[in-house]
Amino acid sequence: MALIVFIGELFGNLKCSPRLRCKNNEESLIHALKECPKVREILTIGGLNNRFLDGSYGRRIDWMEDILHKLDSKATADFFTLLWNCWNSRNMLVFQKKEDLARMVWEMAHSQ
Ligand SMILES: [Zn+2]
Repeated sequence: MALIVFIGELFGNLKCSPRLRCKNNEESLIHALKECPKVREILTIGGLNNRFLDGSYGRRIDWMEDILHKLDSKATADFFTLLWNCWNSRNMLVFQKKEDLARMVWEMAHSQ
């Protein structure tokens, strides 16, 4: 639980970048980690259950708690590694204009 709170406080609320080809002007953390088209593609490649991707969660902590209740410890570690790689890929695109294909992001996360 503390890790989830830490992640929320660390990243706070964000604005989605036009470079991400996303039509969402106002962005929450749950948008950046679950709903933005590129991250959805990566999470789908990673095999995240559609229920977790399509479910409606008002707060990011509800989404993460739902996932953490269903995943075992190995899958949880893989999930956070994948989220971290999504975040890094997003930052590379926004700040350095370098775009990784969704499959490449998943493969980088999978190899760690
Ligand atoms: Zn977006």
